[in-house]
Amino acid sequence: MRAVVTGAAGFIGSHLCAHLLAAGDTVVGIDAHTDYYDPSLKARNLRALTPHPAFTSHRADLLETDLGALLDRAEVIYHLAGQPGVRPSWGVEFSRYAHRNLLATQALAEAARELPLRKFVYASSSSVYGDAPAFPTPETVCPRPVSPYGVTKLAAEHVCELYRTAYGLPSVSLRLFTVYGPRQRPDMAFARLIDAALTGEPFPLHGDGEQTRDFTYVQDVVTAMRAAAHSGFTGVANVGGGRPVSMKQAIATVEQLAGPVTVDARPGGPGEARHTGADITLAEREFGYRPRTDLYDGLADMVRYARTWRRCLDD
Ligand code: NAD
Repeated sequence: MRAVVTGAAGFIGSHLCAHLLAAGDTVVGIDAHTDYYDPSLKARNLRALTPHPAFTSHRADLLETDLGALLDRAEVIYHLAGQPGVRPSWGVEFSRYAHRNLLATQALAEAARELPLRKFVYASSSSVYGDAPAFPTPETVCPRPVSPYGVTKLAAEHVCELYRTAYGLPSVSLRLFTVYGPRQRPDMAFARLIDAALTGEPFPLHGDGEQTRDFTYVQDVVTAMRAAAHSGFTGVANVGGGRPVSMKQAIATVEQLAGPVTVDARPGGPGEARHTGADITLAEREFGYRPRTDLYDGLADMVRYARTWRRCLDD
């Protein structure tokens, strides 16, 4: 299968590329190396992929490049490029979110609509739900984002649905629930939490710690993405870890694995949903999704990776 992966140098995108290559796919990676976080981490993410003979990498912005040439002969497009982060999406930053999440998705869908694609897989987000009326949350509830980020992810999901119904683009939008694992983005809670445990620096905890998240291990996510691409399913499906836990429980688990954490309690800001929890019945039925990694094992992998990475930096 010839796959194009946008956002290939990012956290989830680089894991997806490795997973596809291991499964025997040919992969064309596209990434603009944006500076939302240290771009050298993106170069690091790509380093393990570039020697693979079935991998090619293009540094390009979806909004400024000839997509026709990059999508040539693609059978599946996995669209992960985007501007993540809930808290910074307010105010003047919103236009960056609108460009990288909404406009870039429309440009890609437009370039893809005439191609004989097997699947167009979009990395949507649990943030589309906001404070959902039911837990676990099925795809049928009316999405009501509580952050500007969530608004742009929902709008991009609508673009995928629009091109599916109007032009037959075989799109699947997967609503990913808080993804974690080695190489997680440095702005995300677990990466900062493990860093705090290993360095003794305080961990800024926004809110009372009772907020729950349906944390999903990155290998389960990329397995779901490829399974969705190979299934007959189109439309929208949740991909969650299956067992929400509170931030307090997550902190206790990291302390067990990596040592004590000094918590710097801060007020919760606007834009954060209080609880998230995925109903994954649809994904299980349509493409056999079943999360395999529990929080303890997934965090243990992250701690192992962070320790090794720190040692490399020290050497
Ligand atoms: P990431 O920031 O590590 O990866 C996104 C990549 O997209 C970056 O490397 C960036 O350089 C690239 N990019 C941004 N705009 C681009 C453009 N216009 N053209 C080309 N490349 C561009 O983020 P991530 O955590 O790996 O998330 C990947 C996707 O999954 C995002 O779309 C995000 O919204 C979605 N998502 C992530 C999570 C999570 O918990 N990490 C949860 C739900 C959804």
